[in-house]
Amino acid sequence: MELACYTQPHPFHCSLMGSEPYPPFPAAGAAQHQHQPQPSRARAEPQQPAPPQPRAAEPTRMIADPLKGRLYCKGRLLGKGGFARCYEMTDVNSNKTYAVKVIPHSRVAKPHQREKIMNEIELHRGLHHKHIVKFSHHFEDSENIYIFLEHCSRKSLAHIWKARHTLLEPEVRYYLKQIISALKYLHLKGILHRDLKLGNFFVNDNMELKVGDFGLAARRESMDQKKKTICGTPNYLAPEVLHRQGHGPESDVWSLGCVVYTLLCGNPPFETSDLKETYRCIKQVEYTLPAFLSTPAKQLITGILKRNPSDRLTLEEILDHEFFTKGYTPDKLPPSSCVMVPELNPPNPAKTLFAKVTKTLFGKKKPTIKKGPSEEKDDISKLVVGLMKTSICRQMSYKTVEGNEVTPVTCPSISCSPVETLAEEGSRKSVSRSIRGTAASSCEAFEECIPASAVTESAIGLLKSCLSSMPPAQRNPASLACHEHFAWVSKWVDYSNKYGFGYQLSNHRIGVLFNDGTHMALSADRKMVHYNLTNSKHFAFPMSAIPEQLQSQTSVLRYFASYMEQHLMKGGDLPSIDEIEHPALLLLQWVKTDQALLMLFSNGTLQVNFYNDHTKVILSKPDHSCLLTYVTKDRNSYTYKLSSIRELGCSPELQYRLKYVLKLLQERADT
Ligand code: ADP
Repeated sequence: MELACYTQPHPFHCSLMGSEPYPPFPAAGAAQHQHQPQPSRARAEPQQPAPPQPRAAEPTRMIADPLKGRLYCKGRLLGKGGFARCYEMTDVNSNKTYAVKVIPHSRVAKPHQREKIMNEIELHRGLHHKHIVKFSHHFEDSENIYIFLEHCSRKSLAHIWKARHTLLEPEVRYYLKQIISALKYLHLKGILHRDLKLGNFFVNDNMELKVGDFGLAARRESMDQKKKTICGTPNYLAPEVLHRQGHGPESDVWSLGCVVYTLLCGNPPFETSDLKETYRCIKQVEYTLPAFLSTPAKQLITGILKRNPSDRLTLEEILDHEFFTKGYTPDKLPPSSCVMVPELNPPNPAKTLFAKVTKTLFGKKKPTIKKGPSEEKDDISKLVVGLMKTSICRQMSYKTVEGNEVTPVTCPSISCSPVETLAEEGSRKSVSRSIRGTAASSCEAFEECIPASAVTESAIGLLKSCLSSMPPAQRNPASLACHEHFAWVSKWVDYSNKYGFGYQLSNHRIGVLFNDGTHMALSADRKMVHYNLTNSKHFAFPMSAIPEQLQSQTSVLRYFASYMEQHLMKGGDLPSIDEIEHPALLLLQWVKTDQALLMLFSNGTLQVNFYNDHTKVILSKPDHSCLLTYVTKDRNSYTYKLSSIRELGCSPELQYRLKYVLKLLQERADT
């Protein structure tokens, strides 16, 4: 029995994407591209949010409220702002923790500076809303002004964005709803925030968003009296603010549009390397919408980023937009989503449809609009067909390339009835027939295709015998001087919550194992598309003659290709190889555990990528002499004959990994 890609015992690690981020961007919080759709650009793959640091930077100090006499223990530095440093502080009596902005008097010596801080305090203390950072209290001592705020332990959307680069649409909806709720409250109170940006959207332990930092906020004295000052974050300034025509509620909406764009696209809409150019782009509303955005997302952004403030969508209209009404918004996001793509479980459409069908057939609730009997029957049959289709899709997504039925760990409650199986068979056959009717050449010589179960068994045998006979050693044997050439996965993206798993091989070929078990590959020269309906049914098409039926898969394949090209870095220094010399390779299966990603290929190659230190173990068999390649955390790769390791032993580091791989394979084989 095969366990397919959904075998993820530790949901925390079901990140959408893998591979490795670009090294940190050089400058000023610029977009560090890592991601899908993904992890910390700081050359780190997804990691759990860091545990609170032991107070390292500064010695712990007690702070006393001179009037009330309360004592606070100053903890770690949370961040630095324009005037303030923000520290974690704990009330010694109540043990309550706050985020405290500490502003030295010396920094606000000028009257207008102090006035600014006092204005912020005055304004913020009057705000009480679920999605606004709670203002607790403030006091001063001889050195500083202290502003006690609700502590948001998961920092801000800026931190999440840095780690993820882009968020999924449901995540954006989740945060945006909360921001809009806070913003409606502010606008209703006649307050403009004027500095809406990712860094001012804080996230608490519970993953609730809180709008904060009222340093630039201002009251709208009257509807006509607009604030004329230029303030805010340059990239997010609205055209009318740049033209000094004043900042109205619509200008906050504009900034919100920039936030949405940044979260979905990975960079601010008007970002350029030159501020003047950025301002020019803003004034002319010159930005591009990436092709991968959904149509509602594109429409939402264009509806917000309008030059004329009165043409922009209002907050209400944003909530009523198709982006929200047609898309799923999670009730809650997992904390792991701060650093990695979450696996979201939208309400099961099959269940929803089923509920609708049963309700219509048997429910007490009458449909609101009266319909004629035939119309109603038609609706019901549509629903039933929809229900069946959904079940089929879900069932198919648990099949491997070999077409084996697999038992998913999180099996959907829909059982596979004979009707569904037949329907699926039928649909595959018809796809097969109709593709055959096109100009496909079903020709490419695939290497002898070893089934996944056989790859697993053979690897278990090899590793078992190697580990049991190797002598203890502290180091690895001499690696092979010149690299044996074999294909390995240099980049990968897990987008299985929507399409499938994409990867790039060292021969630059791109492959996608779709959720329905079919496989599509793009040749290294990007001219040919290879489609595998099953392992044995293979079709090849020139890019210029893709049949109608495969257009959508091809678009997804191209999306994966350009995503990996643009956002991911090669996972090691193994040489690239020539595609021609290495016949087509199929990814048969992939499995994620909490520590590693396992991939099995049709030529018997097995690759395991360890997330936390980016090390990789590749077992390949060119010429049937088994090779073991170890890619170290420094991305250096060493290839050994497995037989040398068996005879001479290997470093504890490598041995640990081999044992892990063996255990993983054995667990799978037992399933
Ligand atoms: P600025 O607005 O210039 O970024 P702030 O003084 O508002 O400066 O905040 C400085 C940093 O302190 C923020 O970037 C953030 O990292 C941290 N911070 C501020 N408020 C909170 C809070 N309520 N909870 C957690 N961290 C906070």
